[in-house]
Order: sequence, then structure tokens, then C-alpha cells
Amino acid sequence: MKFYLGTHHPGWLRLCPFPLFVSHRRLTTYKTLPRAVGPVAIDSGGFTELSMHGAWTTTPRANAVSRYVEEIGNIDWAAPQDWMCEPFITAKTGLTVREHIHRTVGNYIDLLSLRPELPFRPAMQGRFIDDYLYCFDLYERAGIDLTKQPLVGLGSVCRRQHSAQIQTIVTTLASAGLRLHGFGVKTRGLQRYAASLTSADSLAWSYQGRRTPSLHPGHINEANCRTFAEIWRTRLLNSLTWQQPTLDGL
Ligand SMILES: [Zn+2]
Repeated sequence: MKFYLGTHHPGWLRLCPFPLFVSHRRLTTYKTLPRAVGPVAIDSGGFTELSMHGAWTTTPRANAVSRYVEEIGNIDWAAPQDWMCEPFITAKTGLTVREHIHRTVGNYIDLLSLRPELPFRPAMQGRFIDDYLYCFDLYERAGIDLTKQPLVGLGSVCRRQHSAQIQTIVTTLASAGLRLHGFGVKTRGLQRYAASLTSADSLAWSYQGRRTPSLHPGHINEANCRTFAEIWRTRLLNSLTWQQPTLDGL
């Protein structure tokens, strides 16, 4: 599994040789973008956007991603403007889960027809396994075979508490042949589902850092600390490697 460390700080792009996950919301204000030394994936920032405004307030972002590809470089892929389906998000938008799925698929098709050369990857949204299968069919009806995609973003799964539900969704889709990216996966989720994911990202280090008293001069806490983040990442990856023989042996 390829792990992208989530960061609020685009400046890290020029410093970190390992994969980073950066939100479009953080990049959009930069006049001069940092040049990346490691691989990068671009998050849509949709979770923030929909939870704040209850709708996408920005237009399709093909031009922005085109600029990131050119100026930042090393862009592995970018998320479309998908519509998350957590209950508090649908409460905010006032729309049904199925409508969120339609809009998610619709946005990917829009981006694909605007700029087919850009590395947008389709995202799946839903709440229950039937929703994800509905989403899969909707892509298929639009002529997009998700099993042929290099990566498919799996949304609205990883923040949940019900691990049995998550397990069903992740394993069903992975065994259907999808190469999945887990958006915003919790540490425990990663340890559990790493074998079914092609890639994942997480900002969990920052939430942990917020509750960690300063370890370095000038830091109030460790929520924004690159050293703290790098140590967290190493520990996480070691814990996944350690688990790998067990998973392979199953
Ligand atoms: Zn620090």
C-alpha cells in the first residue's frame, strides 16, 4: 500500500521525499507553488467545502489541477469534486445519498470531458454497500469500467466507527478488482484494511499532535510539526509491515 501523509502545509512539498496528500484548498492561494521532491496526490477539499457550505462553491477545477501538474510536478493523481455521504454532510446539503452519488459521478465525467489528459481518478461515495454498488453501476452505465482504472477513491468510509460495515464495503469492492484509495483513513482502519487498499492518506498525526505538548522549541503543540509527522509516519508504516506476514498468511 502506498501511503500519502496528509499535510496542511504545501511548503513540505519541497522538503519531503515521500508521498504527500495536499488539499486544493491549501494550494489555491499560492502565487508561486512549491516544486515537489516526492510524489503528490491532490485532495478536493470537499469534506471541508460541503461541511461548511453544504454545496460546492467552486467551479470544476480542471485548470487548477493543470497548474499543479505543471508547477508542482510529480502529481500522481487528483480527486474529483465528490460528494461525501456522512449523515451530517447530507443533513447540511439537504440532498439524498443517491443524489450525492449522481453528482459525484457527474463531476468526474465533467472533468474527464473537459481535460481527459489530467490525472483525475474517479471517486465512489455512499453509505451502505448497496450505495457503493449503485455508484459502480452508474459509472458503468456512463461507459467507465472502474476495474480498469489505476485507482478509485473510496469516500465516506474511513471516518466511521462501525468496522464490520467498513470491512464489508472495502473487501467487497477490493475483491471485485478495484484498486482502492482510502480517503482520510484512521490509524486503526489502516492497520485493518491495508491489505485491501492500493493507497491511503491520513492526517491523523495532526489530531494526535494537537493533543501532544510541545516537543520542540517554538511549538505550542505538535499539530503542525514536520518532525512529529515524519516520526508518526515511520511508526505507522513499521506497524503495517509488521502485520503484513500475518495478512499474507491468511
Ligand atoms: Zn515539533
